[in-house]
Amino acid sequence: MAVDEKNLKQAVLWEAVEGKKVRCNLCNWKCLIAAGKLGHCSVRKNIGGVLYSLNYDKICAANPDPIEKKPLFHFQPGSKSFSIAAIGCNFRCSFCQNWLISQMPLESGQIDGQAMAVEKIVDAAVRSRCKSIAYTYTEPTIFMELCNDCGRLAKERGLSNVFVSNGYMTVEAVDFASEWLDGINIDLKSFSEDYYKTLCKARLGPVLETIKHIARNTDIWLEVTTLIVPGQNDSDDELKALAEFIVNSAGADVPWHVSRFYPNYKFTEAQPTPGETLERAMAIGKAAGLRYIYVGNLPGAQAESTFCYKCGQMLIERLGYSIADNRIKNSCCPDCGAKIAGFEL
Ligand code: SF4
Repeated sequence: MAVDEKNLKQAVLWEAVEGKKVRCNLCNWKCLIAAGKLGHCSVRKNIGGVLYSLNYDKICAANPDPIEKKPLFHFQPGSKSFSIAAIGCNFRCSFCQNWLISQMPLESGQIDGQAMAVEKIVDAAVRSRCKSIAYTYTEPTIFMELCNDCGRLAKERGLSNVFVSNGYMTVEAVDFASEWLDGINIDLKSFSEDYYKTLCKARLGPVLETIKHIARNTDIWLEVTTLIVPGQNDSDDELKALAEFIVNSAGADVPWHVSRFYPNYKFTEAQPTPGETLERAMAIGKAAGLRYIYVGNLPGAQAESTFCYKCGQMLIERLGYSIADNRIKNSCCPDCGAKIAGFEL
């Protein structure tokens, strides 16, 4: 793999094991890595008994985005988030929308990207009037060293930090990030172990544990996204199980984004998700007790807007990623006074 091994950043959250092996504790693969070998994500390497990050200076995206694009709908609504990514992922989703950067080490044997000092990233975020930095497009867990350095500096400069994640990080990694991480959107892709195993080459269990841990034991604002893939995770039973898990394990205030699938990468056999399926998912989520359910990737849908869970009045009117109106006052509905959950609403 074409990476200059001089001046690499030492990894966080690993331990030495006998025989110059190391155990990486960053995500739930918990890779045991022999000297000279890579972890499952292909961006962490054991060099002489020490674990290094290979993607600390391999930034492949750095631009302002609406926070709504993450999607985070109850987090500083209407603000911009400076969005960065580094190469690689710890999942192998057949339908990945960003596979050119997430799967680059596997597809081409390369880790290509630009070095960008954290000071420059934070300066660029401030200059472009962003309120937060988003670690997104690829899996932030596997570029945690960059997130940690950047996140701490961002906090000093008055910015928030958000992750868009597959939720495979360990509890230890969540706690490590919780010192500077303010919000997270976790992809809960399915409620079936088989789906995770077949389509993502991963496991469901750790994702459920991460969601529970964040909701119950941290102050990190949580939203959940499910990409609804026709014929794969769109049965009434599965949608009900997903919604009930969120309500019972994380709470009725956690926004659930049900997102439209488009064929991509290696998974081109399914059709784009019909609008009726997304409406059915919304109805099931509502029946399960969720207060805020949103439809994603379906431009023009009314279900992009926020309504008061108590009196039903529209609170935030969204048109795509833009906000046409935000009537929330001091985190409350101006009509009935109900408290609307979120971060700096
Ligand atoms: S981040 Fe996950 S996949 Fe990568 S080396 Fe560590 S445990 Fe393995």
